[in-house]
Amino acid sequence: MKPMYSADGDGSGPAALVELSRRYGAAGRYVLAGGGNTSWKNATDLYVKASGHSLDGIGPEGFVRMRAPALAAVLTADYPAESAAREAAVLADLEAAKYPGEEAKRPSVETLLHGLFPFRFVVHTHPALVNGLTCSAEGEAGVRRLFGPDPLWIPVTDPGYVLALAVKKAIDARLAAGRSFPQVVYLQNHGVFVAADSVREIDEIYAALMARLEAEVAVDPADLAPAALADPAAAAAWEAAIAAVYGLSAAVLPVATADLSRLMAAGAAEAALEYAFTPDHIVYFGYKPLYLRSPAELAAAVAAYESDDGRKPRIVVAHGLGAFACAATAKAAATARALFLDDLAIAAYTRSFGGHRFMPRANIEFIRHWEAEKYRSAVSN
Ligand SMILES: [Zn+2]
Repeated sequence: MKPMYSADGDGSGPAALVELSRRYGAAGRYVLAGGGNTSWKNATDLYVKASGHSLDGIGPEGFVRMRAPALAAVLTADYPAESAAREAAVLADLEAAKYPGEEAKRPSVETLLHGLFPFRFVVHTHPALVNGLTCSAEGEAGVRRLFGPDPLWIPVTDPGYVLALAVKKAIDARLAAGRSFPQVVYLQNHGVFVAADSVREIDEIYAALMARLEAEVAVDPADLAPAALADPAAAAAWEAAIAAVYGLSAAVLPVATADLSRLMAAGAAEAALEYAFTPDHIVYFGYKPLYLRSPAELAAAVAAYESDDGRKPRIVVAHGLGAFACAATAKAAATARALFLDDLAIAAYTRSFGGHRFMPRANIEFIRHWEAEKYRSAVSN
């Protein structure tokens, strides 16, 4: 295979994208599983993360080389108003914007948004700290209070083409008002985009925003760390019920934190876990955890969830005890567990910003049925 990137002596070329992406993919602070995406561009080429690849440990083969002008054209083209027809037409144009040799890879669902920024590097992530703010009641007011007028705030919207178009309209309005192009975009119930011409500037922007959020949240990190289930006898009863419903070969992992135990004791856990917060939570553990009070409820509740969602819930919350990540494979269970711990952290952080705010049901429904996210979910198993 021919080398994908040419020499990159000054650290401003596409080879720097691989190193940058690996750093932001490592350690779970910025993204989990296949979440987040990164890109590099010049006037003719845009390299963007391929859908389903994890930033953690990514190599050059994890990026798709696209024709930058063809991507820009998608955002000014006319598409059908009906959702499924529009998404199919956009997907076809995205496929056509790939360079020859890239046929086997599928560009990230946020490729169009990457193409919007007139900056060399774009790093899009979903840190729990950031989503504590974007999934909170305070929302945009919190962004203004902490970060001033410069970052763009985009109210919750469907991902992909619809999101890219919403951001383009907001930026066009800003530019028309004589303001500069934003380098930070906060997406409600989703995450953050950071754009800059150098790796150093990307790092500086991220370090500043993460430090500001860290100083704002009043949560002891130890309260969000994985802990053991407190009651082994109760845990055994739940595990037996799960084995009976999910099958003996299912992978089952316990999940508990001190913060979750306190929320349960205060009677506040069920409300804080009613729905998913962001697209990643929907893709990797489902549109909501299944919250139950007794193992005796499990069989009927899982059957009802499955008939509605098409798959069994991957997170079963056992009131007064903790939760279980349940999936057909060990990898899928571990990913669901990681995303649920992230969900718990977000719920805790939102308490510093006026309380939680779930993704609206209409947006949840779009993602549950969106072909692009079904693809991402399928390749994670
Ligand atoms: Zn995202």
